[in-house]
Amino acid sequence: MAENKICGRFAPSPSGRMHLGNIFCALLAWLSARSQNGNMLLRIEDLDTSRCTEEKARVLIDDLLWLGLDWDYGAVPDKPADEYYQSRRSGIYKKYFDELAAQDLIYPCFCSRAELHAASAPHSSDGHFVYPGTCLRLTAAQRAAKLAGAHKCAWRIKVPGADVTFDDLHYGRQSLNLAREWGDFIVRRSDGIYAYQLAVVIDDALMNVTEVIRGSDLLTSTAPQLYLYKQLGFNAPQFGHLPLLTAPDGRRLAKRDLDLDMGALRQHYKTPEAVIGKLACLAGVIDKEEAIKAAELIPLFDWQKVPKKNIVVKF
Ligand code: GLU
Repeated sequence: MAENKICGRFAPSPSGRMHLGNIFCALLAWLSARSQNGNMLLRIEDLDTSRCTEEKARVLIDDLLWLGLDWDYGAVPDKPADEYYQSRRSGIYKKYFDELAAQDLIYPCFCSRAELHAASAPHSSDGHFVYPGTCLRLTAAQRAAKLAGAHKCAWRIKVPGADVTFDDLHYGRQSLNLAREWGDFIVRRSDGIYAYQLAVVIDDALMNVTEVIRGSDLLTSTAPQLYLYKQLGFNAPQFGHLPLLTAPDGRRLAKRDLDLDMGALRQHYKTPEAVIGKLACLAGVIDKEEAIKAAELIPLFDWQKVPKKNIVVKF
């Protein structure tokens, strides 16, 4: 990969057809990289093999290409590109997982979901569960007995008490306390699948991604990820988060809003230019909604135009 060039990425999960919110992020990640003469990469985040399929990945690739969002590295239609599918990279994740184990940073967690919910730990600001450290307090003998038994276990990483601080490209300086907001977080799930937090860091680092643009639902995930970058000795990319698209009732658009998925959008808007025009207008890149090619937006793109508040989508 060319040195000194920005490399952005799309990192979608093919668990369903992309919807307006996903392609909003894809367009802006692409515009940010392309407006700096940078490269783009497509990685298929299909770790959850119970929900993600190869067919859905194929449709996703077709939808991105239809929109005119291209990439220089990554998964390509009808060609083997195993290194860009997370489901095929567990050998790589294992190597780094073992590195964390060698640093004595991770420990097995035997808590069931029910036990986790029963524990009266506080919840973080965005409502996810903060692990109270139950299994960290097991004695070595208790841990060995559980490991030798039939217990399934997840693996968690010990987090420090200090704040993690970073400068977001769009939202400015951010500070988050891992111990308070996350607790020791999971790096490998009890079904043996490596966790998103670990896989995404290893992949972005090994694939030389320099710019990560994604929805602000992942803003709080940036702190655990930066902590992993540090522990694994990788340079962190620049992070930039985007406002979320919401329904008029304030609810975040989700894959279940089928009327806004790419299938429905392609049928309703007919041309990629019409869909891109809608997204570009929502993003503030153009003032009024009109059909336009993604490539024509490159010279018009400016982060200053992108709203910071969540964007209500009306149809
Ligand atoms: N695969 C994640 C998703 O589709 C995005 C991960 C990321 O951008 O870091 O929600």
